[in-house]
Amino acid sequence: MTSVAPVPRLIEQFERGLDAPICLTWELTYACNLACVHCLSSSGKRDPRELSTRQCMDIIDELERMQVFYVNIGGGEPTVRPDFWELVDYATAHHVGVKFSTNGVRITPEVAARLAASDYVDVQISLDGATAEVNDAVRGSGSFDMATRALENLTAAGFKDAKISVVVTRHNVDQLDEFKSLADRYGATLRITRLRPSGRGADVWDELHPTPEQQVTLYNWLVAKGERVLTGDSFFHLSGLGAPGALAGLNMCGAGRVVCLIDPVGDVYACPFAIHDRFLAGNVVREGGFDNVWKYSPLFTELREPQSAGACGSCGHYDACRGGCMAAKFFTGLPLDGPDPECVEGYGTPALATDRDKPRPSADHSRGKPIMLTLSTRPPAKPCNESPI
Ligand code: SF4
Ligand code: SF4
Repeated sequence: MTSVAPVPRLIEQFERGLDAPICLTWELTYACNLACVHCLSSSGKRDPRELSTRQCMDIIDELERMQVFYVNIGGGEPTVRPDFWELVDYATAHHVGVKFSTNGVRITPEVAARLAASDYVDVQISLDGATAEVNDAVRGSGSFDMATRALENLTAAGFKDAKISVVVTRHNVDQLDEFKSLADRYGATLRITRLRPSGRGADVWDELHPTPEQQVTLYNWLVAKGERVLTGDSFFHLSGLGAPGALAGLNMCGAGRVVCLIDPVGDVYACPFAIHDRFLAGNVVREGGFDNVWKYSPLFTELREPQSAGACGSCGHYDACRGGCMAAKFFTGLPLDGPDPECVEGYGTPALATDRDKPRPSADHSRGKPIMLTLSTRPPAKPCNESPI
């Protein structure tokens, strides 16, 4: 009689990595018309080595062969690339669906009509305040109006189910109900994600990340009202605040296992929030294509090995929290095998109070240093020192 090997649980398969990423983010450009203070990729200026249209198409061909069903396209502001729509059309024609994130700058009525006619393109509008005052303090003057105008254009064109993407901060966590109402008004779905100390986010993380009390508020809101809210499994570090399984998700760090990033010059990183040489797996142009980097890079092989629980091993929440987010620990200078900086057991706070070496992002594409506007007295907007458009 032949014995049948037991089928591993889904999470165990994911931990060992898959033949293709489930969540592939592709930042097409570092150019951006805005200068958000918490930008995870420190975007602003175009990198002169940006991949050409032909090189991008070659990547899409490869994704099709790997059966990557969709990509999250971001930036920078991806729509400022002159070939953006050409690349979107090329991807969808090659069975790679597209979800792209935008600040709304190019979502005119004509573009909205074009998007409404496609079944394979999803649009995510970034908004970090349910009011102009809260949003513009971090995303820049006029950015709330730009985003809501884009949503209005999409609604008017009949685009169904756009996403409104919110990074939860200390200043907007009390607006969760308002964000939900805003999404309902536009027939959109609310997506909320965690503020990570990545890119320029490292400079403002101390000021902007939710307080421990606000983390509890956020967790309770998600449990009570989050059923139709997307989170991208952002908040699994909060799982210990309630019953196991109360927050739906895989509850694991997918970096290099099911998640990765291709940046505008073709560098592949383990996660969109880990743009640093430590998490650079290779380059699609120099190293024989994305498939080769994804399957054989030493970094991804290492990340797919069983990881040490380290100081979290004795915590009762470990199965739910797994020590939290690798990128959040790395960029706050905490050990990767220790607690998350926002650990719900409170271990992050004393760890953050010690002397730490905080790694800087490997590259900065900012157009000057963005200034966080105060919520009560907003200075006049500064002119850009260079137009990326
Ligand atoms: S590093 Fe953080 S954001 Fe990236 S996959 Fe891991 S848990 Fe998610
Ligand atoms: S000690 Fe570690 S496993 Fe426990 S809640 Fe904190 S980060 Fe999560």
